[in-house]
Amino acid sequence: MARSKKGLGGFRPESFAPRERRSEESPPPPPPSRTVDPALIGAAAQVIGWGLGQWRESARQSRELEAGLLRLAQERLGILTVNDAVRELGAPRAGIEKQLAGLTHRGCCRHGVSRSGQEIFVFDEFLPRLYACHHCDGEWAEERPSCPGCGAPLYERVCSPPLR
Ligand SMILES: [Zn+2]
Repeated sequence: MARSKKGLGGFRPESFAPRERRSEESPPPPPPSRTVDPALIGAAAQVIGWGLGQWRESARQSRELEAGLLRLAQERLGILTVNDAVRELGAPRAGIEKQLAGLTHRGCCRHGVSRSGQEIFVFDEFLPRLYACHHCDGEWAEERPSCPGCGAPLYERVCSPPLR
């Protein structure tokens, strides 16, 4: 009894179960390759590849435009207009406006209207700093240990443009 159970139990699951699974798995692969035209797969891959290429290219252009805008904003001491960017970077106005809107949304700059009515983008980190004295109201462009006028300590003041 014990020998026959071991003999049957040892052989049946190992010899039959794997074969059944293999026979279930093996049929599916052939049909797809026969029913789908390889040319179609190639065409689809080309379309996907083209789409990825386009996406990568536009992502690269977007990064370059952003870098250009930040560089220009730094050169202009933190204040940029769309006209300025279009003229200096030679990129389409729509792309520059979109990029500036994105930078504004991310908190890299602020969008406002100057006192003279011009639309400007203000990049706070690039705005000029002055070192001012509370005591005598003196202001200096360079950082100094103390006020050259009265000797009081100086504080850093960001020169933010007045907006409407
Ligand atoms: Zn002073």
